[in-house]
Amino acid sequence: MTAPKHVLANTLPGIGQSTIAICACGHRETAYNRSKAVAKLYAHTIAAARPECPTPHKKRYGSEREAANAISRFLRMPGEGGRPTRTYQCPSGQHWHTTRQQSSERAS
Ligand SMILES: [Zn+2]
Ligand SMILES: [Zn+2]
Repeated sequence: MTAPKHVLANTLPGIGQSTIAICACGHRETAYNRSKAVAKLYAHTIAAARPECPTPHKKRYGSEREAANAISRFLRMPGEGGRPTRTYQCPSGQHWHTTRQQSSERAS
């Protein structure tokens, strides 16, 4: 099985004046006219073309600030080894993660 490509595969007339744009992956977008439906479909292809999160087990933050706030909360908590010390944007480009810098543990 190969991953589906995300390209505009077809457009179909929908109910009334609406148009359905269909991605090669099977995803559909419906809008009140063809250009709107195609625009929505392209937005889907752009989002889908991003790489997947390589660390889905890690907590995700919507922004760098959120991740930084989470770190400062961790740092205020006593004990608990292996606290995160650094933020970085996920390669997926969709969110942020925190990481530790300790070399005593294997870097992930
Ligand atoms: Zn798609
Ligand atoms: Zn991620």
